[in-house]
Amino acid sequence: MKNNNPVRVRFAPSPTGHLHIGGARTALFNYLFARHHKGTFILRIEDTDKERSTQEFTDFILKGMEWLEMEWDEGPFHQTERFDLYKEHVEKLLKEGKAYRCYCTAEELEARRKAAMAAGKKPKYDGKCRNIGHRTSDIEKSCIRFKAPLEGAVTFDDICRGTITVNREELDDMIIARSDGTPTYNFTVVVDDVTMHITHVIRGDDHLNNTPRQIQLYDALNYPTPQFAHLPMILGPDKQKLSKRHGAVSVVEYQKLGFLPDAMLNYLARLGWSHGDQEIFTKEELIEKFDLSVIGKSPSVFDIEKCTWVNSQHMLKLSPEELLQWTTPYIEELGLQITDKPYALKALCSERERGKTLKELAEITAFYLRDEVLWHEPAVEKWLNTEGKNRLSLLQKKLSSLSEWSAANIKTAFEETQKELGIVKMVDLAQPVRVALTGTTVSPGIFEVMEILGRERVLQRFARAIR
Ligand code: GLU
Repeated sequence: MKNNNPVRVRFAPSPTGHLHIGGARTALFNYLFARHHKGTFILRIEDTDKERSTQEFTDFILKGMEWLEMEWDEGPFHQTERFDLYKEHVEKLLKEGKAYRCYCTAEELEARRKAAMAAGKKPKYDGKCRNIGHRTSDIEKSCIRFKAPLEGAVTFDDICRGTITVNREELDDMIIARSDGTPTYNFTVVVDDVTMHITHVIRGDDHLNNTPRQIQLYDALNYPTPQFAHLPMILGPDKQKLSKRHGAVSVVEYQKLGFLPDAMLNYLARLGWSHGDQEIFTKEELIEKFDLSVIGKSPSVFDIEKCTWVNSQHMLKLSPEELLQWTTPYIEELGLQITDKPYALKALCSERERGKTLKELAEITAFYLRDEVLWHEPAVEKWLNTEGKNRLSLLQKKLSSLSEWSAANIKTAFEETQKELGIVKMVDLAQPVRVALTGTTVSPGIFEVMEILGRERVLQRFARAIR
């Protein structure tokens, strides 16, 4: 059914686990769709499974949403706070004869289910209590079932999957309220979507089986069916369902690993959606270009290397100031403080091409900020032997007497030292210097590193290395 109402969509996670990659993508597609159409994005916590839902998981989900800056307009609503509403709707269906009390016991159901299977029939509820009328006894043991229409088919046009038709024969009289009065999942979802005036239900295709059942309930409640978009699965690079084996699945992990939220959004959006061959999008571009109808039904593959590349591209677009701001928490996590901002900025910029995540950037920049270099043992053994130290000593003298501390002058001092000591290859001087200054054998161009470190730090580090 076409719907011309202002767009209202919802993200409806169950707080039975972390906000994982798949959930975050569902949230994002709802968010982008709402923003693109200037509609409303609602957050609903589906916490009716009291045994598996926890406050801790709810907090994790909210934190993930906040980190990714997917601001919601209404909510978070909690299903556990809406029981009166569900009850009201159960009563309404009962009164209208669209639901009935079922007195079958679990044992009876099981016996009939087995008999049906043995007779080669579908093991669905056989409708025994559909027409028995109201009883006065055993009410407390009864549940309430939806009186599903028996004939015809349910048909709907899924935005991602096209037309889907299910014969009503396949659908049985599902329970909408258990004997303890609690509503069931398919029922709460529909009551919520009806009362929240949801126009588009965008969710994972693991819910596809629920949709025909839910459509019957929309009809029974006299509410126009929303449009559905069932998003394709996300797989790991080995084409298996994405799981812990493929790396971090919880989005908060990606924050810890040093991903930028906008880069994460960019990559998540590309899991199923595309716009020409463009790979890098700002959040504004995603909102502007997002279109549900290009999403097909084939699964997408989550590839951590691609995700990391997207992150590096977003990092390269940041101004030095922004980059410093984003990287600071990761630097602090290493136990380091930024006391000299201009120095930290230069240090960060010298490494920014190499750091693919904020965490990695913090780690490779750390040598600039430490009071004492952390020696990498194999590097020290290889390069800071007696010969290496002699080379450092001579260079140290030349550096102390440089008139002006610049990369060009440092280079000249290097060349003079190399010549005086008869060193054939420049690496044989550059590597001891690198180990002395950074603790390892990898760094940006050594003259640049030295210029940034400044004379005082360089000479201090030389002295310690020679000692
Ligand atoms: N609570 C369901 C889930 O977390 C989502 C239901 C829906 O979107 O309709 O999978």
